[in-house]
Amino acid sequence: MGMFKQKQRLIIFLSTLLIAGFLLTSLASYFISVASLRDHVVNNELPLTSDNIYTEIQRDLLKPIFISSLMASDTFLRDWVISGEQDQTQVTRYLKEMKEKYNAFTAFFVSEKSRNYYHADGLLKQVKPAEQRDAWYFRVSKLDSDYEINVDIDMAHNDAMTVFVNYRVYDYDGKFIGVTGVGLAVDAVKNLITHYQETYNRDIIFIDKAGAIRLNSTVTKDKETFQEELERAVGSGALFREITAADVRSFEYKLAGQTALLNTRYIKEFDWYLLVVQGEVEGADNLFNTLMINLAACALITLVVLSITNYTISSYQKDIERMATTDKLTGLYNRQALDILFKQLVLDQRRNPTGMSVLLFDVDHFKRVNDQHGHLAGDAVLEQIARLTTSRLRETDIICRWGGEEFLVLLKDCDITVARNMAEELRLSVLNNPADYMQEKINITISVGVAEYRSEDARDQLIARVDKALFKAKRGGRNQVAIES
Ligand code: GH3
Ligand code: MG
Ligand code: MG
Repeated sequence: MGMFKQKQRLIIFLSTLLIAGFLLTSLASYFISVASLRDHVVNNELPLTSDNIYTEIQRDLLKPIFISSLMASDTFLRDWVISGEQDQTQVTRYLKEMKEKYNAFTAFFVSEKSRNYYHADGLLKQVKPAEQRDAWYFRVSKLDSDYEINVDIDMAHNDAMTVFVNYRVYDYDGKFIGVTGVGLAVDAVKNLITHYQETYNRDIIFIDKAGAIRLNSTVTKDKETFQEELERAVGSGALFREITAADVRSFEYKLAGQTALLNTRYIKEFDWYLLVVQGEVEGADNLFNTLMINLAACALITLVVLSITNYTISSYQKDIERMATTDKLTGLYNRQALDILFKQLVLDQRRNPTGMSVLLFDVDHFKRVNDQHGHLAGDAVLEQIARLTTSRLRETDIICRWGGEEFLVLLKDCDITVARNMAEELRLSVLNNPADYMQEKINITISVGVAEYRSEDARDQLIARVDKALFKAKRGGRNQVAIES
């Protein structure tokens, strides 16, 4: 049915429109929010973290550099070296004193002349150029600047960062005579890193100029994969190139299937790069939840709108269908409906010929009713005749308003004799039941034509016969039944 298809099309169109509209706005606002959140993290939060860490690093370094510079200019130490490193207990006591006073991890002196490595507990060893572990000394001995900083992770101390300051020592003529310094834990940096890890789920990573990871505090979920990915990304050069493109950078990078936000900064004191990495943006979870709630609400609204639409259209459709098949005045079937019902009955008769008859009755001198009592009275009469005759018929009989004051009745399983009796009964009941209109009795009679359905009858042939019968009844003097067979 065309109507049904149209309704389906409207529902599909509406759902598409609503779903597309809701999806578009929800997703757009979600992605815009995520983007602005990311933007904020990349351009504000991560640089701030990096700045803070860098400031702490610089502050943490002040103390060990200061102590080492004090030691390097200490006249006792220089005099003792110049006078031939006589009594080792003296230098040992001095180093122990420095170590304890400044709460250092170690305090040391290496002599250029003897290559002896002294520390707080005495003579440790002799440094040798061939020894990989002693390479630092020979590097410092050729250094242009007064000192260098060496950062190491102290496995024995909970991976704490330990800063070694290697300070050059000169005699009073400016000749290089050795290297001294202390090793100090950089507590503030460590605390800060822990703070950022725990509070913001941020990773703090240091890589050296060769791209090797020197200090890694990765906290990202799925740590192993993330770390591997990061190492691979740095090692392969792609990420490393991004990091080293400028001294300070902020950018996004795909790592371990997620968008990592990075802030990188060159730390000249260590000759390292500091990476602050945020794997998952804090708060993106909330945005995602909001998106889900939005989508659920949209789905609900869509469903409600669609069911309201469906319900409204369906009830209109029913109204329209009823209007199309019903006569407004009498509530009986109209001619259109009869056409359909008649076709159905004919098909039934072909399959199972049980007999069928038709009656056609017409109100006698109805024009007079209208003329004498008015058109509204005429309407009331038609209504009452319809009610009266319907009440006399069987459930299976079908009555329809055929024309102005003409009614057609289809009688199923009914031969001409029974049909004739039925016609007579209708005629008598109309005769004996005058219509009521405004306390007035209006006497009415009807003339009835009767015809029987013959197999292979077309609709019009049957109608023509019953019409002829009715004409006969009229011509016979009205208020009577006539048969045409
Ligand atoms: P007869 O059938 O006995 O030959 O006489 P008649 O006066 O009934 O003849 P005719 O068929 O010529 O007139 C029918 C009249 O019925 C004409 C028309 O104005 C009137 N009529 C038709 N439909 C309606 C209706 O819905 N309401 C009213 N009030 N009058 C109607
Ligand atoms: Mg008439
Ligand atoms: Mg008529």
